[in-house]
Amino acid sequence: MKYIGIDVGGTNLKAGLVDESGLILATHSMKVGQVDDPDSLAWTLVSLTQDLCRSAGVTLDQVASVGVGVPGTVEVRSGTVLYTCNLSMKNVPLRKLFHRYLATPFYLENDANCAALAEYFVGAGRGSKRFITVTLGTGIGGGIIHNGKIFHGANGMAGEVGHMSIVYGGEPCPCGRRGCWERYASANALKRMTAQAVAEHPDSILGAVVAENGGHVSGRSAFDAMRRGDRVGRAVCEQYIDYLAAGIINLVNIFQPDTLAIGGGVSNEDDAYLLQPLRRRVEKESIPCSRDKMTKIVKAELGNRAGIIGAAFLGKNKRV
Ligand SMILES: [Zn+2]
Repeated sequence: MKYIGIDVGGTNLKAGLVDESGLILATHSMKVGQVDDPDSLAWTLVSLTQDLCRSAGVTLDQVASVGVGVPGTVEVRSGTVLYTCNLSMKNVPLRKLFHRYLATPFYLENDANCAALAEYFVGAGRGSKRFITVTLGTGIGGGIIHNGKIFHGANGMAGEVGHMSIVYGGEPCPCGRRGCWERYASANALKRMTAQAVAEHPDSILGAVVAENGGHVSGRSAFDAMRRGDRVGRAVCEQYIDYLAAGIINLVNIFQPDTLAIGGGVSNEDDAYLLQPLRRRVEKESIPCSRDKMTKIVKAELGNRAGIIGAAFLGKNKRV
């Protein structure tokens, strides 16, 4: 069977036709800005489904399910979008609206959970039974797989790892709390810390790295400066890894997954500079256990394909 996965991002709706092995056979995308009410969203999902079938030369009855991942809160059982920041729509009964046009089984899920499911089936979590993904981006997304299923909590909202507080009374977060992990360990937080270090030490190698990049601070700037022997760059990286480790160690102590995968642009950094120091910190500070039972900390493998593949596999997850 084939599966369709649709990733509703901040700018684009990205849809893909996926086979059992997670291979994306065809893709289509369109701007989210063109969708302005619940019915047009449902119709857009239907037309993306039909376009994908047409371009891949498959019929609708070869498609086991359509899955959709959205950034925000969803009610999985009824297929309802409760809240999503990028579409300014609330309480949209998306499955019901979709089924007005097509009878294909339809699943809805939070996008970070989709990414975790994709990595679990065909990425860094293959063979894992208890698996967590942490995606470092604008914020920090998280997905928890327990015994082969997405862990939803009582109300479908579990897995918001970015909003665990690691600094009591710390930086304010849009969620209303202070000191949330994503305010310290997201890619955006790393850029903010880097920009602040450049402002304080404009004559450092880090300052030169940023100047060579047209004044643009990236998630790589501090790591590049550290590679060139800069103590300012090194201090930023060490601080960042401290913050990252704080949240990872919390997750390991609470869930003890067999594997924890880190995704997002920052995770592409050389292992020697990111994953290895992180593993040392986790080993030193998490609750002691024998080496063969320790959580394996690895890089996520699917990059930005995880959203489509995970949404597509929502239907597969129901069948296994
Ligand atoms: Zn927060």
